Amino acid sequence: MAIALKDYEAVVGAEVIDELRVVAGRVRHRRLQNINSTPVGGGVAEILTRMVPLLRELGIETSWDVIKGDQAFFNVTKAFHNALHGKAEEITEDMLDIYRANTEMNLREMNFSGDVILIHDPQPAGLILRKPEIGRKWLWRCHIDISSPDPTVWNFLKPYIERYDASIFSMPDFAQQLPTPQFMVAPSIDPLSDKNKELEKSYINNVLEKYHLDPERPMITQISRFDRLKDPLGVMAAYRIVKKRYDCQLVLAGGGASDDPEGEAVLREVREKAADDPDIHVLLLPPFSDLEINALVRGSTIVMQKSIKEGFGLTVSEALWKRKPVIGGAVGGIKLQIINGVTGFLVHSPEGAAHRAVQLLADHKLRERMGENGFLHVKQNFLLTRHVKDYMLVMLALEHPDEDVVHLD
Ligand code: UDP
Repeated sequence: MAIALKDYEAVVGAEVIDELRVVAGRVRHRRLQNINSTPVGGGVAEILTRMVPLLRELGIETSWDVIKGDQAFFNVTKAFHNALHGKAEEITEDMLDIYRANTEMNLREMNFSGDVILIHDPQPAGLILRKPEIGRKWLWRCHIDISSPDPTVWNFLKPYIERYDASIFSMPDFAQQLPTPQFMVAPSIDPLSDKNKELEKSYINNVLEKYHLDPERPMITQISRFDRLKDPLGVMAAYRIVKKRYDCQLVLAGGGASDDPEGEAVLREVREKAADDPDIHVLLLPPFSDLEINALVRGSTIVMQKSIKEGFGLTVSEALWKRKPVIGGAVGGIKLQIINGVTGFLVHSPEGAAHRAVQLLADHKLRERMGENGFLHVKQNFLLTRHVKDYMLVMLALEHPDEDVVHLD
């Protein structure tokens, strides 16, 4: 059954929903068009899948289009992604040409229907070239950590970004020197989606059984695309240290994203390294495995997100919402979600992750306390309703570029 706006009242309270309707009333005359680079896989698609219907229900005509690109283009944009995260990548002039050519192709084929055009991440950023011709309000929504970007890639992208009316970043640490306004909007999870809703115990057990997991033994889980920046090998190294003290299981579950060409190679490497231990479960999940991912997290004792770089890391909020303590790399948006020692632990190495996992496995009261804290932290800060409101407020702010305060009544 489709989820309706009203259903969120039970989670966030009627006032929050009333407030959304009031703000929507001020921006309803504008069509919002989202453009990104993949319909499924990764956090951006995850958010848009749920946000688009909610905005529509609020009366805002909202669309979502996906740019086209071949393998060569996505190899280039994955290198951009890594380089913007600060990872060393060789960026050649040919790669920049591939980006430009693909942008031209999408400029020819894309129908720009929105009054406000919200472009997600670097892959479609070049579409701004259409602005002089058609006008409209253009927003660049950056989901990645660009606090210390590779200068070659940033200097290439910056002239595009500067033409937008404004940019949106996930946290203040990612702010850039730009001549245009910057908004800070943290991402969010949908508490009512299949990924996050409450599940029957029997369903959780069935999923564990399906994947040959033992519900009686502790389970450490990381849900992530098979991406080096998510550090699956680091998680495995941490698990091996913990395993010396606790008879536990490790689940590394993930799928691919059509805009991430590196996934297969990383998965192969992870599988090879895991082959000697039957308690390491490497699960390649098809798209739309949301209920199963939900069950795997709910069946876990500890969730890890040991990223080396991270934009936000929705998986952290997804786990905290399920009252799981999370051990995460002290990077990017993970630092917003894990309050160290309160909702989980921030770590800097496999050894640190192992140390914290041992501490948590030894103390179920600590796990429970952190789980409860995490749930409240997400409820207050990282739910879809807050995110939708923030986007509508950005739309409103764009209409009042010279005002510091916009009155809603
Ligand atoms: N995810 C999924 N299937 C997978 C792996 C991940 O549905 O096999 C989801 C995960 O639950 C989360 C999103 O994809 O909602 C990943 O978002 P995150 O911000 O953690 O990382 P990104 O992939 O965008 O870097």
